[in-house]
Amino acid sequence: MMGEERADIILKVLQQTFTLPKWADGQRNPFETLIVTIISQNTADRNTAKAFERLSKRFEITPETLAKAELSQIEEALQIAGLYKNKAKAIKAVSAIISEKFGGSMQPLLSLPLEEARKTLMTLPGVGPKTADVVLLFAATQPTIPVDTHVNRVAKRLGFAPATGDYEAVRASLQALYDPRDYLAVHVLLIAHGRRYCRARRPLCEQCPISMYCPSRGIWDKND
Ligand code: SF4
Repeated sequence: MMGEERADIILKVLQQTFTLPKWADGQRNPFETLIVTIISQNTADRNTAKAFERLSKRFEITPETLAKAELSQIEEALQIAGLYKNKAKAIKAVSAIISEKFGGSMQPLLSLPLEEARKTLMTLPGVGPKTADVVLLFAATQPTIPVDTHVNRVAKRLGFAPATGDYEAVRASLQALYDPRDYLAVHVLLIAHGRRYCRARRPLCEQCPISMYCPSRGIWDKND
């Protein structure tokens, strides 16, 4: 079976296995998405949600408000998230830059051609390639596949990306395999699959719905 045909079948099976969440429509608020994604770095989803909720209760989530906010108050709201002091600093700095340099809106930045928008986003404090790609995919419907820890692991086990590939190598390999209109689904479904079946330790190969298309099936059981 050719690589693309296998990739296609795998996506179809994952689409039948998992439901895409309602928020996964590429229409999220760009600034909120940026702030949530900064908070989410090295932090469990539940704590990210709690920290964002606390921040939203205290402040209006706009560049102007967060640029003027007291650093200690942002820190206090984020305490439940990992590295909250760095994140608070990044959020305040990023808000000031968007406020002053971009006229308070991310829209002009997000409307740039993809690579230019990515590069510009990555000049912002606290914004690496994954955060930039999440904002572009979920808030600007730009065709890019963010590579988080689950996407990275599952893509490599499925043989979709080189085993030692870095962020850009995994992103490029996945993007070459799929149609841009499926990028959002690929990102969300590989994460769902990595959480439910293809876990980092002891993946559930015996129950895995795509095991018959996976070159790594079973090898993990022997190593445990
Ligand atoms: S067969 Fe195992 S290694 Fe392959 S995708 Fe499924 S859970 Fe992951």
